[in-house]
Amino acid sequence: MVYKDEERKRKLGKILQKIHHLIPPVDMDTYAVGDYEIRKGFLDGNEIKRLIVYLRSTGCQWMLDDENGGCAMCGHLAGTTRGRKITAEEYEKQFQTIIAQIDFSDIPMICVYNAGSFFNDNEISPEARKSIYDMINSIPQIKHVIFESRPEYITEDKLQVLTKSILGRRIEIGMGLESSDEYIRQMCLNKGFKLIEFQNAIKLLKKYDVKSLSYVLLKPPFLGESVAIDDSVNTITWAFEQGIDVISLEPISVQKNTLIHLLYSMGDYRPPWIWSVLKVMVQVHDMGLVRIGGFEFFPPPEVCTHNCSVCNEVCINAIEDYNATNDIKVIHDALDMDCINCKHKWLNELKDTVSIQEKIDSFIDKVDTVDIELLLRNDFRNYPNKLLRMGGCGIYNL
Ligand code: SF4
Repeated sequence: MVYKDEERKRKLGKILQKIHHLIPPVDMDTYAVGDYEIRKGFLDGNEIKRLIVYLRSTGCQWMLDDENGGCAMCGHLAGTTRGRKITAEEYEKQFQTIIAQIDFSDIPMICVYNAGSFFNDNEISPEARKSIYDMINSIPQIKHVIFESRPEYITEDKLQVLTKSILGRRIEIGMGLESSDEYIRQMCLNKGFKLIEFQNAIKLLKKYDVKSLSYVLLKPPFLGESVAIDDSVNTITWAFEQGIDVISLEPISVQKNTLIHLLYSMGDYRPPWIWSVLKVMVQVHDMGLVRIGGFEFFPPPEVCTHNCSVCNEVCINAIEDYNATNDIKVIHDALDMDCINCKHKWLNELKDTVSIQEKIDSFIDKVDTVDIELLLRNDFRNYPNKLLRMGGCGIYNL
């Protein structure tokens, strides 16, 4: 069937809500972080270690309150209390306990993530934020701090408190722009906020000398491989024009309990090829600082960007090398490689001419004929562990 846009949006929203209702309940200790990792990072051109703290959180308000179920690709909800407020005391205890276990003597960077917006008072109270700032400020070895938030929560008063509390460090705030194309952002991803809110947030961050980081997706749902490459390139171009400091290109991975998970289980979605990641990078490298990310999530993703077992390792190594050196030659060299096993498949997928609307409409019709609950029980047994590792999930673990 051919649907109208309002109908598409409503039907996709209903499907996403259904997916979220199927997330099984889990017991969680709200005085302990959801997870933490020590990964490679880069500071002033040098390879360093960075600590990533995934706070056990209330959950993203956009996902909890939105009638269409929040962002289509996001699987963070499953690791949260799904709306049960985490108190300041619980957040403080989580953070205190984790930093007490870490030897920061060779870890100058910390990323504090809460599966939502760090600056939304309904997700983390001002009191809890202030305690976390003070704890970070008390660790002199930390030189670089990263938080994440939707742009609408980045306000003057919050930046004032932040910059008066964490002193003499580089502070960076990541915002999920995902795509600068309004149709893709709202229809395919259900992102919600407006581009003007993103632009205003960049201006405010500049005023307070806080660095802005933007996440840009590669291959949102319902985009063919070639359209996806163009969308990432256009979005990165646009974001730099707005004055963003850093971009993290995020090839979409499959997190459980997401629209992507359902599409993948129905055989209607493949995470982007690494070839596509490389192709984006050669076009955007000269625009500014672009990292290649997409592997750091809680709960962790099941399937990440990948090519084939023959060339995965060399391509992932190229990504690692690029992140370490910012040398575009490694990306060119990898992209110029000819993998007889898979490159022709990728080139073939670049010819996909089915429109976004046609893909959405056929998905909506097909969903009516499948058992969503059964499909979401997909435990990814058929996905070879070797590929999973090489596809990025965990490959950056030290
Ligand atoms: S991507 Fe960010 S804003 Fe969107 S639902 Fe997930 S946590 Fe919320």
